[in-house]
Amino acid sequence: MRPGSRFDEAEQREKHPDEEARTPGDMILSLHLDHGGHLSHGKHVNISGKWFRVTTYGVDRKTGRIDMDEIQRLARECKPKLIITGASAYPREWNWDGFAEIAKEVGALLLADIAHIAGLVAAGLHPSPVPVADFVTTTTHKTLRGPRGGITMCTEEWKKKINSAVFPGLQGGPLMHIIAAKAVALGEALRPEFKAYQQLILDNAQALSESLLGRGLDLVSGGTDTHLMLVDLRKQYPEVTGAMAEDWLGLANIVVNKNMIPFDERKPMHASGLRIGTPALTTRGMGPDEMRKIAELITRVLTAEGAAAAVESVRGEVIDMCAQFPQKTH
Ligand SMILES: *Cc1c(COP(=O)(O)O)cnc(C)c1O
Repeated sequence: MRPGSRFDEAEQREKHPDEEARTPGDMILSLHLDHGGHLSHGKHVNISGKWFRVTTYGVDRKTGRIDMDEIQRLARECKPKLIITGASAYPREWNWDGFAEIAKEVGALLLADIAHIAGLVAAGLHPSPVPVADFVTTTTHKTLRGPRGGITMCTEEWKKKINSAVFPGLQGGPLMHIIAAKAVALGEALRPEFKAYQQLILDNAQALSESLLGRGLDLVSGGTDTHLMLVDLRKQYPEVTGAMAEDWLGLANIVVNKNMIPFDERKPMHASGLRIGTPALTTRGMGPDEMRKIAELITRVLTAEGAAAAVESVRGEVIDMCAQFPQKTH
């Protein structure tokens, strides 16, 4: 636009002749936030939800798992331009091929947001969406264990559009120190130790989830295939909200976060679930024995409903455990 000229619609249109380009208002099909999805997948308060129309899918009420027949039904009905897969709080394996087939049938593009599971994918311990998705996005700071940041991957066909959407579309100058740190993280991910680390994350998640189940807690979907699990507090602790549990455990030096569970009747501020992951403990060198101990500590705090004496004694044990497994500096 010339300096001082008013917004010129004709000029704008001439510069964006690509009517095929995905335009604001198009339909996205993505996982509902309360069922494990992410704000950036079309929640109305997020820019993604302000720009696009969104239909959400959820997990099955009985199994806590994504039901591919339901995805197919919804996709045929809402005819999305883009199907988003991937989650912040879904403990089970993703069926990328199933999604790809549905996307192909309805003429949608497929985006896999592997923010949480990127480390498992890199280590070959969770199927990779790369062969079938048009776009794969990830953070670099979750299981990938790198700096806070992100990566967008795409097929050759979309390279130019993605690059210009990042710059000049959205982003200013790059953070070179973060790019260097991402390179270090990806270099680490190529090493055999990284695969061993990811396998131990999974072993620890199995040990922790089995111990929690053994102590009578409910887990959404009955367990996990990944690094995280979602405790459903309602059955064993009907009066305890996720927020209360998070606070009590925090006082005992156990860091978890409150989380909505599928079909939660409580508001997000309170919620009925806890999300627990094993990557950080695994980095400290803790193993399945420590996970079983941690399950015991968690249930002690919850059963005591955060009573000061219980919190105090658990905190002492947590401090002792952390002293046995200090943070390593490389
Ligand atoms: C964490 C996460 C992101 C990125 O969120 P940040 O707040 O930038 O960490 C994107 N998608 C999913 C599914 C995530 O879990």
